[in-house]
Amino acid sequence: MLQQYLSIKERYPDVLLFYRMGDFYEMFFEDAQVASRVLEITLTSRNKNQESPVPMCGVPYRAAQGYISRLIDNGYKVAICDQVEDPKAAKGLVKREVVRVVTPGMIIEDELLDAKANNFILAVACHNQLVGIASLDISTGMFRLTETEDAPAVIDEIMRLAPREVLIAENLKAEDTFSVLFDSLTGFAVTSLDTKVFEFARSRQRLLDQFDILSLDGFGCETLKAAVSAAGALIYYVSETQRQKIEHLDGMQTYSLGQFLIVDDQSRRNLELSANIRLGNRQGTLLSILDQSVTAMGGRLLSDWLRYPLLEPDPIEGRYNAVAEAVEKIQIRKDLRNCLKSVQDIERLGSKIAMGHANARDLTSLKKSIATIPELLGILDGFSAELYRYGQSTTPLTELAENIHRAIREDAPPVISDGGMICEGFDDELDELIRISRDGKGWLAELETKEREATGINTLKVRFNKVFGYYIEVPRSQSKSVPDHYVRKQTLVNAERYITDDLKHFESRVLNAQEQRASLELKIFSAIVGEVKAHHNDILSLARFIAQVDCLSTFADVAQTNGYCRPTLNTEGVLDIRDGRHPVVEKLITAERFVPNSIRLDNQDDQVIIITGPNMAGKSTVLRQVALMTIMAQMGCFVPAKKAEIAITDRIFTRVGALDNLSAGQSTFMVEMQETANILNNATANSLVIMDEIGRGTSTYDGLSIAWAVAEHLHNLNGMGTRTLFATHYHELTELEQQLERVKNYNIAVKEWNDTIIFLRKLVEGGTNRSYGIQVARLAGIPEPVIKRSKAILAQIEDGSHPKAVEKKKVKDRSKKKDGHVQLALFSPMERKLVETLQMLDLSRMTPMEAMNLLNELQNKAQTVVY
Ligand code: ADP
Ligand code: MG
Repeated sequence: MLQQYLSIKERYPDVLLFYRMGDFYEMFFEDAQVASRVLEITLTSRNKNQESPVPMCGVPYRAAQGYISRLIDNGYKVAICDQVEDPKAAKGLVKREVVRVVTPGMIIEDELLDAKANNFILAVACHNQLVGIASLDISTGMFRLTETEDAPAVIDEIMRLAPREVLIAENLKAEDTFSVLFDSLTGFAVTSLDTKVFEFARSRQRLLDQFDILSLDGFGCETLKAAVSAAGALIYYVSETQRQKIEHLDGMQTYSLGQFLIVDDQSRRNLELSANIRLGNRQGTLLSILDQSVTAMGGRLLSDWLRYPLLEPDPIEGRYNAVAEAVEKIQIRKDLRNCLKSVQDIERLGSKIAMGHANARDLTSLKKSIATIPELLGILDGFSAELYRYGQSTTPLTELAENIHRAIREDAPPVISDGGMICEGFDDELDELIRISRDGKGWLAELETKEREATGINTLKVRFNKVFGYYIEVPRSQSKSVPDHYVRKQTLVNAERYITDDLKHFESRVLNAQEQRASLELKIFSAIVGEVKAHHNDILSLARFIAQVDCLSTFADVAQTNGYCRPTLNTEGVLDIRDGRHPVVEKLITAERFVPNSIRLDNQDDQVIIITGPNMAGKSTVLRQVALMTIMAQMGCFVPAKKAEIAITDRIFTRVGALDNLSAGQSTFMVEMQETANILNNATANSLVIMDEIGRGTSTYDGLSIAWAVAEHLHNLNGMGTRTLFATHYHELTELEQQLERVKNYNIAVKEWNDTIIFLRKLVEGGTNRSYGIQVARLAGIPEPVIKRSKAILAQIEDGSHPKAVEKKKVKDRSKKKDGHVQLALFSPMERKLVETLQMLDLSRMTPMEAMNLLNELQNKAQTVVY
């Protein structure tokens, strides 16, 4: 047995092998050690008394799923090795084979999946200078591919899909150009495969075989070698792990990254589109506001629309039309949503059935969902928008549902091997077998009465157990009265058990009937499954239609509940929002009412908008709400505003200043500058750039200079400029309005009142020249003496009487170099020296006495600085 085990295990070195023995899956050696630790189950050993006992542990086969999912969540893969012949029929050792490898990207069981999220596995391949990405959700059959020569875009695309598992070629791992890529993949399970698997010719052939076609032209990817290499590798991996040809993929979708609005990964995070920047979950995200879908399929499609906002006005308007109609026709929408509630996840059900992992209950769920189509289509007749029309005939599916209904019992058990799934009256042979097993019960009762009478033993019982089959049980005290033809089988403390010829004969008849019944039922079940498989494409298109109808009516619900408006789109670069709101903040704030704001951007006069205002005024909120509304509008969703003209945008960039970015570890000035570089290099005249407090991560003058230069550059980008919202606490930047043609100042109004300020949250035209830092500091609870002192210093600096102000001036004059550039220093030479001394200190090597001395010395020096 161990030999068989080892020969199988050899082929699955990096995978935990679940080796079926009776009612258990056993693991041995290192696998057992890992599994017992992760699953918290007891580690025992085989051959305990020999010199080298084999560590082992096991899980009951019926409960395996929970254990498998725990291992997967902990980053392991599991190979399921089953007995592939009937142990009774086997000569010698039962034959065993791996029937499936479960990996994070290869999960089909809905219990292990998030209903409203896709579970992607990705393959990344390289061909010449191009990188191909193929993605597959095996649980829904969604299969897509694309390629690009833009390396950072590869990372963004991978992050956008947020896969559970990524496949790459072994040789790529070693390449320098890809090291960045793989560094970014740390969050996912990365599986490296033999480089050969990614070869174009092989991959192409695999795809031709998969879809039974002669050319990839039909999928628009014949020439996309990198994409095809990746897609073929994916198909290879799927068939390797699933040990079957996957028949439920209805095709591949080829897309180009430029076909959709691009929001790079960092911006997706900054804008908290689908993940909370601190918690990583959906809380407080745009998705959490928009996703009020009632079906799992609708939820997944909505996420997909959020990942891939559109660029073409027509399809977007198509969605608007549908949403507008559902907003208007309230009753029809209500009926529709009620009807959708009874639709199960037929997309995943269909895939599960097609892959042979379904039970009778899954078929019943499918049937019930299909049964709602006539009602659903009837309701949709009340709408006229094109997207509510189901273009296909529903007859094949209705027939399928009827067949399932006639064949499958609604009270079928969850296992498919024991019978009890198929309705009576469906199959004559089955009915006969059912009758025999049922009659058997009556026969047994009769036998009991007969034998009691014949023997005079009133307590005689006829019973069944798995070990002995049928037997007659007689209390020990009465055992003397049993007739001779009773054959004793077992002696218990209080009873004796017997069999008779009659009973033996009966037993084989009944047991045979039951066994035959179970296998016949399985055969019928498989035939029905085959029928479902044959209709898989119809099921998929129905699923997609339902998802779409769900999304559109969800948008209508959300628009009505939250008071959104239908945007008008333009391709002239005009973004004009009247009384716009932040879709998330307006829901989350409780202390005050959300104040709507209006803003206009275009490419003629108002291209670069500088927004000033004290901390906490609401600058970041305005910026984000403009970006979010653009994304919503291009998804086909209405937007939180009274009126909105939206410029169709090709990319949204955001740069959030170091201190504003809450995600840990990201807040370095270096990252900020890298991202700024990305924007300056990639923005176009159709992009929207959000710059939030850029330059904050360095000293005031550095920061101001960088912010200034970046704003100028965005204004002049490619001779055309790019639409930019620039929030800054450097009120000096408002001077740009005078110098550059298309810069416009806004500020967020505050009201001074009795030494303190009130945030009005209102965006008004014009710049500010005050930062109200001291007032904000007071609001934040800084003690009054500190506030007073700050004010005094500020007053001195402002009227020039402060030594610091004087010194600043001197430094300015002194550092005016020949080329006219001004270098500003924040610190005097003495201060600088003090700071440097402090920076160089290695506290871990100092004694308290040394530290005390040094402190004394520093203080003496510091006292010579005059203010
Ligand atoms: P800033 O970027 O200027 O420091 P934020 O945009 O971060 O300010 O806003 C600070 C807080 O003010 C937000 O968390 C929100 O609670 C509140 N706020 C912002 N804008 C508004 C608004 N228009 N109406 C009501 N409250 C707002
Ligand atoms: Mg801010």
